[in-house]
Amino acid sequence: MITKLLSLTSLCVALVVSGCGGNSSPDTVEGETTSSSSGVQGGAEPAKSLAAVSDARLAAALDEPQQWMTYGGSYDETRHSPLSKINRDTLQDLGIGWVYDMKKPRGVEATPIVVDGVMYVTGSWSVVYALDARTGEELWVYDPEVSGEDAAKGCCDVVNRGVAVYEGKVFVGIFDGRLEALDAKTGEVVWSQVTVDQSKPYTITGAPRVFKDKVIIGNGGAELGVRGYVTAYDTASGDLVWRFYTVPNPNKKPDGAASDDILAKLANETWGDTGAWTTDGGGGTVWDAIVYDSVNDQVLLGVGNGSPWNASIRDPEGDGDNLFLSSIVAVDADTGSYRWHYQTTPRDMWDYTATQPILLADLPLGEAGAPRRVVMQAPKNGFFYVIDAKSGDLISADAFTDMTWATGVDENGRPIEVPEARSLSEDFAVLPGPTGAHNWHPMSYSPDTGLVYIPTNIWPFLYSRPDPNDPVKSNWNVGYREDAGWPLEIPAGGIEGMRGMGGGSLLAWDPVKGQARWAVPFPVPFNGGTLSVASGLVFQANKGGELVAYDAETGERVWSHGLVGGPGAAPMTYEVDGEQYLSILSGWGSTIAMVYGVVFEDAVGPETGRVITFKLGGQGELPKPLETGIARSPKSQPLGDEALQAKGLRLFAANCQWCHGAFAISSGVLPDLRWSAITSTEASWDAVLRDGALSANGMVSFGDRLDKEETDAIRAYVVKQAWDAVARGEADAPAGTGADVGAH
Ligand code: CA
Repeated sequence: MITKLLSLTSLCVALVVSGCGGNSSPDTVEGETTSSSSGVQGGAEPAKSLAAVSDARLAAALDEPQQWMTYGGSYDETRHSPLSKINRDTLQDLGIGWVYDMKKPRGVEATPIVVDGVMYVTGSWSVVYALDARTGEELWVYDPEVSGEDAAKGCCDVVNRGVAVYEGKVFVGIFDGRLEALDAKTGEVVWSQVTVDQSKPYTITGAPRVFKDKVIIGNGGAELGVRGYVTAYDTASGDLVWRFYTVPNPNKKPDGAASDDILAKLANETWGDTGAWTTDGGGGTVWDAIVYDSVNDQVLLGVGNGSPWNASIRDPEGDGDNLFLSSIVAVDADTGSYRWHYQTTPRDMWDYTATQPILLADLPLGEAGAPRRVVMQAPKNGFFYVIDAKSGDLISADAFTDMTWATGVDENGRPIEVPEARSLSEDFAVLPGPTGAHNWHPMSYSPDTGLVYIPTNIWPFLYSRPDPNDPVKSNWNVGYREDAGWPLEIPAGGIEGMRGMGGGSLLAWDPVKGQARWAVPFPVPFNGGTLSVASGLVFQANKGGELVAYDAETGERVWSHGLVGGPGAAPMTYEVDGEQYLSILSGWGSTIAMVYGVVFEDAVGPETGRVITFKLGGQGELPKPLETGIARSPKSQPLGDEALQAKGLRLFAANCQWCHGAFAISSGVLPDLRWSAITSTEASWDAVLRDGALSANGMVSFGDRLDKEETDAIRAYVVKQAWDAVARGEADAPAGTGADVGAH
């Protein structure tokens, strides 16, 4: 039973990382270096007084703790605040100061930036909001108007993790691949660059970073098939300054980019000359961590997984490491030229991105305990890495979670793999799964306790080689069977079992000793990012919908307050006019909620994104949670025979689940197809699936990729799932049919 449950769970997991919906319109024009001069500069005087963030101010960010000037709070991105008016003695007075409603559903992941009393924050669909940080009063809103069809390129919901602010401008990476500079005073576009080939499934969800008159941005899309890189632009003009590709050009020729020399010298030979990577780009996207090391004047890039995941399909002839997949790469801040790299997972096979948050600190790891400047990361693969920031030498790599794919790291810094996890001679349950033991949710480091506070996940994944004799059309580009372990009938107790299998923790990790100090377990994964503060507290929101303060030394829970929604973002703190505030985004969405409906079903309604700000003495109230109240009943009699439904299962797994939920069970981010009126007739189903009637909402047509028999099979499977829910007592039979009508 355990095995079966594991497989079920894994499946869900699988989906997590893949692409949402269809391909984008193929005739969009590439514009990698085209400047769209949508500038609205005219008349607006330089905003000297607003967003006056400079290199000097950023470098000394912790000397101005009342600000939160960059994504991770400072260049070192430790997310530790020196503020301490909110402390154990005052916590009981911490209440709601203000709530700002973004009025858009879907996931919110951003960390707000606050500079001189103004908050700059992003919500879903890359919309930017400027708010009065004291009151939440709206100053301006900029909506880049991402199209629904572009939204379908995303693996992981139309999220955005935040802006960068510099010299009077606000920079935002937009889901469809644009990077834009906004006037901080008005929100008007100063310049706009298309940073990707928009005919390919690139997306941007990460926060740009700024340093030395440059703004740098990466991209995502490795699940659907792209080649990763980062680009630095001039903050004033928007001109391209340098670009670094993280994997070779498929023809192994130079790109005319900063990465040319090192790809030729090191990386090209680690890839074969054939296989999916030569057509699909190889992956290696830098979609989250891009950290400026001001001491060494270098940029640390967290590089993502291979595309496809399965290395034997990605690079079938080679056996090389596939540099720089799953690596931390350090490059010169001015030129983008290579400094060093450390590869966490050579020849990645399991979606083990090293894109997770990177932070920098001085630890007593030098001679005789002298301070040593180190890079720390807890990537998906489950090892916590401590690396010398200047040399790139690995100092330590210790497992911070249970794992089945490796048993440790050898003296050369390479993981000691469990051979079966790579050979997949039989299906293998890999832990951590592709959601990672840690994902994008920010971690924090307190120099007072010497601990790193990590939001960890536990969720396995069943890896299964594709059967060349039994192919299924897939929107994915991962190279495994997406329906591995999916039963046509979910066994009795199966759903409850799946709900009980995932988990996670708030883990306090000692990076010097390489071991855990304390952990707070959670029943579900994907809880929020962390913030530590000088008053000895750690703040984190959890999927139970509450913000909690813990004692940073012991993990003792010392305060909590309910939130509306299912938060995943990290809290941040700031001060205006001598008053300390603490803000966090909460809503409902992100890939986790979309694909894991089976875990989160009924947990939360499709809440809009909100900025929820606390302050001492705050007397505000939270809005009431949405009443979901969706009538759960099948809208069609059962369709087809078991063979058709089984075919539908596989096609659903390969094309639908990452948006509409594994097993067609939705958590409410997107409609639960089981209860959707579009299942009621062949005509309504075809209008949406084949003719794209809802493409403006992101539900693109599948008519060009799946034939009519295939989309019919998916409908038969979805309707079956609805009737199975009736049989389990989780839904009502349609009025007038009687509960016994055609349930199976
Ligand atoms: Ca991935």
